[in-house]
Amino acid sequence: MSESYKKTWSPVEDEKQLILAQLQKEVGACMQCGTCTASCPNGFAMDITPRTMWRMIQFGMVDEIFESHTFWMCSSCYTCTLRCPRGLKLTSVMASLKRLAMLSGKGRKNSAFYRAFMENIESHGRVQEMGMMSNYFFKRMDNPTLPLKFVPLGMKMMAKGKVHIPGGGQGAILKPLFAKAREMEGLS
Ligand code: SF4
Ligand code: SF4
Repeated sequence: MSESYKKTWSPVEDEKQLILAQLQKEVGACMQCGTCTASCPNGFAMDITPRTMWRMIQFGMVDEIFESHTFWMCSSCYTCTLRCPRGLKLTSVMASLKRLAMLSGKGRKNSAFYRAFMENIESHGRVQEMGMMSNYFFKRMDNPTLPLKFVPLGMKMMAKGKVHIPGGGQGAILKPLFAKAREMEGLS
């Protein structure tokens, strides 16, 4: 093994390159028709449209992709996958982008809401608003004033009875399902 190779080689870097190559192959046939973007129920919350995301993957724009929170907004509803005229596995691509971001140690800020949401569902079987937001603020301690921004929304939700007191829930039933999903997404 050459000295330069020893210095640059890393299993994580190898895996990142492998995932990126697989993603480029997966979206290589995208013809930019925009059906996925028009169909995505979470598109309004994404900073980059799914259609543009596939193009960025084709161009290998890794840093720009990680700056985005688009793939953290994907709720794996499979609508884009079902409607893509090219039959591309777009939901899997979004899951792989989450994995790639975690491998790269990037996107932790953008992933905070997603992780808080999923951990809450796993623990309670449904969203417990107070618990989820506490967890989210804890993950975003880099921004200590963030909770203040949510005060007006929290007040409105409480007034309408939309905030529930944490309870027992169905977490024990869901844990094996979450473990399997993590395994399939390569996040375990
Ligand atoms: S629906 Fe399919 S072909 Fe059309 S832009 Fe989206 S990924 Fe590309
Ligand atoms: S799977 Fe994700 S990207 Fe595709 S339509 Fe659903 S939320 Fe949007």
